[in-house]
Amino acid sequence: MYDVVIVGRGLTGLLSAIWSKKFAEKVAVVAQGTGKVVQSTGLFDITPGNEETENPFIKTDVAEKAVAKFKELMKQLDYPYQGSLEKPVPVVTGAGFVKYTTLYPETITPVPSTGHVVIVGFEEIADFQPAYVKGNLQTERPELNIDTIKVRLGEKSLRTLTQNDAARLLDRKEIRNGVIKQIKSQMAEKNIEQPRLFIFPASLGIANWREAVQDFHEALGTPVTEAPGMPPNATAIRLEEKLTKEAIRLGIRFYLDTEVTGSTIEDNKVVSLTIKNNSKVNTLKGANFIIAGGGVLGGGLTVTAKGLKDSILGLDVDEFGRYKVCPENVIPAGATLGTKMLKFGITGGIFSIQSGYESCLKLEESLAGGIIHA
Ligand SMILES: Cc1cc2nc3c(=O)[nH]c(=O)nc-3n(C[C@H](O)[C@H](O)[C@H](O)COP(=O)(O)OP(=O)(O)OC[C@H]3O[C@@H](n4cnc5c(N)ncnc54)[C@H](O)[C@@H]3O)c2cc1C
Repeated sequence: MYDVVIVGRGLTGLLSAIWSKKFAEKVAVVAQGTGKVVQSTGLFDITPGNEETENPFIKTDVAEKAVAKFKELMKQLDYPYQGSLEKPVPVVTGAGFVKYTTLYPETITPVPSTGHVVIVGFEEIADFQPAYVKGNLQTERPELNIDTIKVRLGEKSLRTLTQNDAARLLDRKEIRNGVIKQIKSQMAEKNIEQPRLFIFPASLGIANWREAVQDFHEALGTPVTEAPGMPPNATAIRLEEKLTKEAIRLGIRFYLDTEVTGSTIEDNKVVSLTIKNNSKVNTLKGANFIIAGGGVLGGGLTVTAKGLKDSILGLDVDEFGRYKVCPENVIPAGATLGTKMLKFGITGGIFSIQSGYESCLKLEESLAGGIIHA
């Protein structure tokens, strides 16, 4: 029997798992698939709530503590995040738009309003076109002087690559050197002056991102930034891989490709989950459960003709997808807290961080003999 079983391995579930390991000995994660974090930008700015529901969470002490804890964790995992809830900074997206973001990895440099920047694209990547990025960025930043360059990742590459493929290629020094050589020669040919920033797609290495950023910065003599856009973005893939590796290192048990299809409840407590893997049905026992199923987009809620349906525990939910009666040992997290938490249909990374942190506070209280207040 586990001290805690976490359903979902998105940002909320992974953070809950890692943080709960501080005080829970036996921790398991059950998930039928990856979380939305792999499709995201890996930059966190969206905060929960909408026009009707003023956001009751952000800029509270809890959110700040959670963000500080997240930054501490990511520093320890060698993929540090910068930024703060107080001061969002402008960054350029893969489409050339400027957005303000609160938390971003070290591969990102805020975009200036003036001066000269060079956008570098790769022939093999179809969804990052420097000329298109330039058009949008120029509209958003009329005083910027923008040049564009397109280079090849490999001399003989024939196929279209994703940004993730490109990132894995750029983990290799010889590929980086080839790219740097082409950038320098095109700058000389086209008489492009030294810019104050080079803008790349979000693909500056995965495992060797630090060396990649350093090599480009040093060889080109100017800061570089990634511009996250169409998934998969290396900015997000690194985050997901780092968190998953850390959870494995901590000894957390993963039940992958495993769907939770229901639960057994006694005296208002969940005693076990019904889990299904490869059409094999089993039960999984736990003393506590953190449910981080991601709502409708994550799969935790299903939209039916009769309204929302809980597809994890099989409990009755209200019109906002919240449990009508939450079992005593269940901690809903992320979008499981209901659709009032959504903006653009998602909760946003900041809320995942805060919710993961809060879940662990509740879990600690429960393991110490208290009652969980959902
Ligand atoms: C394309 C895209 C771009 C984004 N960009 C940004 C951005 O720029 N800034 C920002 O702040 N946020 C962004 N986000 C949002 C952010 O990534 C999400 O809000 C956050 O990752 C949600 O995490 P979560 O863990 O709560 O849910 P999810 O990531 O949805 O995870 C849910 C987990 O539950 C599992 N699950 C569900 N039901 C079951 C079941 N019955 N049995 C077993 N497992 C189950 C799923 O398999 C999954 O592992 C973006 C999201 C998307 C999709």
